[in-house]
Amino acid sequence: MQIALAGIGKIAIDQHVPALSASEDWELAATVSRSGTVDGVDAFDSLDAMLEACPEIRVVSLCLPPVPRFEYAAKALAAGRHVMLEKPPGATLSECAELERMARARGLSIYATWHSREAQQVAAAKAWLADKTLKSLHITWREDVRRWHPGQDWIFEPGGLGVFDPGINALSILTEILPDAIHLREAVLSFPDNRQAPIAATLGFRHPGNAAVSCDFDFRQEGEQTWEIEAICAEGTLRLTHGGAQMFVDGAPAGEALTGLAGEYPRLYAKMAQLVRNGRIDMDLSPMRHVADAFLLGRRETVAPFHF
Ligand code: NAP
Repeated sequence: MQIALAGIGKIAIDQHVPALSASEDWELAATVSRSGTVDGVDAFDSLDAMLEACPEIRVVSLCLPPVPRFEYAAKALAAGRHVMLEKPPGATLSECAELERMARARGLSIYATWHSREAQQVAAAKAWLADKTLKSLHITWREDVRRWHPGQDWIFEPGGLGVFDPGINALSILTEILPDAIHLREAVLSFPDNRQAPIAATLGFRHPGNAAVSCDFDFRQEGEQTWEIEAICAEGTLRLTHGGAQMFVDGAPAGEALTGLAGEYPRLYAKMAQLVRNGRIDMDLSPMRHVADAFLLGRRETVAPFHF
């Protein structure tokens, strides 16, 4: 199937273009970007121009930051194209609901992707936790914003999510692997004096079995980066490390070597191909709901100004 990629920035070049090049399902047939291009691929500087010139391209994948994404998604759906959304799927929950409504009304596929759910050991962790009694679960997601988002000021603008840009990846794993529904009970959000989005956050959740479920997100971590989930259960302790790529039970390596496609983005594109073939929609907004709740309920503190 032919696909167009819009928003040719960091994640498009790092992940989407290689995943599409290696895929048997997809041919990258056009790009839409005000500045970026991909060698050998037809380039358009506006979505309208691409939609008009390329009626044969039935699928559009959007890699823009969340705030400008809605207009692109709505235009693509209105033009009868299937849509794949980078995470987070939008800037607000209501706009995501509207995109889903538009897709359903037109019989189109839409996919709110969560790349971290496709990490190597997430499925194994989910299977392990399914029949365990959870006592506590703690997420430590600490990374260096200067390393992973160099100069991306949008991330600290309203709708950019700040530390929840990576934190939502942890929440996407959490909402995938936990057998029980949780909801936010408390949060502290740390806003740099000169920014509109938090640079760090701590979250506490209510769990139906009264397990203590908490998160520690920080964008200021230099040196070694930490993306870990530790779940202490009556039957043993699970640790998911390296963003879900490695798993340990009671300290010993565990989990499975996944067969088939290697890598988070190749698996996302394989799922998108299935959704389009089967005329399905996948718009799970649960990670984003927890982030919205943190903005609703969180106590705010002001911390030192941040400059890239
Ligand atoms: P980016 O490089 O800053 O932006 C991607 C592209 O979006 C830009 O190159 C730009 O393309 C376009 N864009 C930016 N602002 C726009 C606007 N106001 N209107 C129209 N187009 C605009 O960001 P990124 O790191 O690729 O992140 C994009 C999305 O991917 C985010 O939602 C992020 O959470 C997600 N993501 C990022 C990473 C990562 O490691 N960076 C990892 C996983 C997921 P043109 O200027 O050329 O049009």
